[in-house]
Formats: sequence, structure tokens, C-alpha cells
Amino acid sequence: MHPITLTFDNGPSPGAKGPGITERVLDVLAAHGVRSTFFVIGQKLAASPEARRCAERAHAEGHWIGNHTWTHSKPLGEIADAAASVAEITRTDAEIGMLTHPDRLFRPFGGGGRIGPWLLSKAATEHIEATGHTVVLWNAIPRDWDDPESWVERALAQIESTSWPLMVLHDIEGACVARLDGFIREARNRGFTFTQDFPPDCVPIRRGTIVGEIASIVSG
Ligand SMILES: [Zn+2]
Repeated sequence: MHPITLTFDNGPSPGAKGPGITERVLDVLAAHGVRSTFFVIGQKLAASPEARRCAERAHAEGHWIGNHTWTHSKPLGEIADAAASVAEITRTDAEIGMLTHPDRLFRPFGGGGRIGPWLLSKAATEHIEATGHTVVLWNAIPRDWDDPESWVERALAQIESTSWPLMVLHDIEGACVARLDGFIREARNRGFTFTQDFPPDCVPIRRGTIVGEIASIVSG
């Protein structure tokens, strides 16, 4: 079995009238019976009742809801004010509320998907440990936001070369949605099995316990 895990970042993106991007992503996933994790931006979740309904629907359909910072504007390790870097996590947790996964999933903002010491501040890391969060990184990032047409070919190449790909896609305008159905079909044709769990090497902190290498993702 060749597992693959899908995650969707930077939503919710509800439609004003009719289905928005997040609803369309949910429709595709439901049609294929694929469960994933939605890492939401706190202030987008707070922006409208429609955004909230997207997250509630995702949760009701068995997807997991994770925290992807409040503003998604600066990697936490580059925020000079320690309290402000922690608030990026706490404000979003408060907004997610009852939809929180028991493992308190948190995905740091990388700024274009880059992994490095800018991902976490010292203060944010201490907060994550104290509050039992789980940090979920990634190992496949086909840049769907850059290229909503040909991300699929990049994604297929990435998953073929990764023993358990954890892919970052985006439920935002101009990203993966138009070709998501085709990608899932092709991955299955190639023998991949979709799973909701995360590969251990992408989870350096689990329920507040450091289980991987974090020196390379914490600033200072
Ligand atoms: Zn993001």
C-alpha cells in the first residue's frame, strides 16, 4: 500500500451565492470518500457565517479542522513580539472552538511552503508544548496556488518519489479545485490509498510532546 494524505490550507473560502471553493473541494472529497484536514486561517473563519458553515460542514463530513494562524501574514518565527506570535495561535483556537480536533492540530505558515527556522518562535513553541498542540508539517507542495492548471503533474511526480506524501493544497480561488477530481482519480489509478493520518516524520510535536527534530523549525 502506498499511502497519501491530503490537507487543504488557507480557507475557508465560502461562496457568496452558491457554492464557493471550500464547498466545491468538499463535494469532490465526498464523491471519492476521501477524508482530509482543513487548516483554516482564523480571521477568514471569523469573517462570515458562511465561512463558519464551511468548517462545520467539513467537520460533519469527517474532515479534521486545524489551526493555520490568525492572520497568515508573517511566519511566527519572524514576529518580533513574542505575545503576538502566540496570539496567532490562541485567537484561531478560540474561533475554531468546538470544531477542534483532540490533537489540537496546528500548521505553521511557511511563506510559500518553505520549511525552516522561521516557522515557529520560541514563545509559540513553548505555548504549543504547554497546551498540547500537534504540529503538522508537510513533504509535498505542488504549488497549486501558483499554477491551478499544471500542479497535478508536479503533484504526481512528488508523490511518486515520497514514501508517504503529506500534500498541501489550498481551498482558495485560483488553486487546486478545478483539477482535484482528476488528481484523486489518477493517484488511485497508480495504486495510492488516501488516508487521513499524518506520516510521523511530518509531526515533530504531538499533543505537546516533542517527538521529532525541532531545532530546524524554531527561530533564535
Ligand atoms: Zn498557508
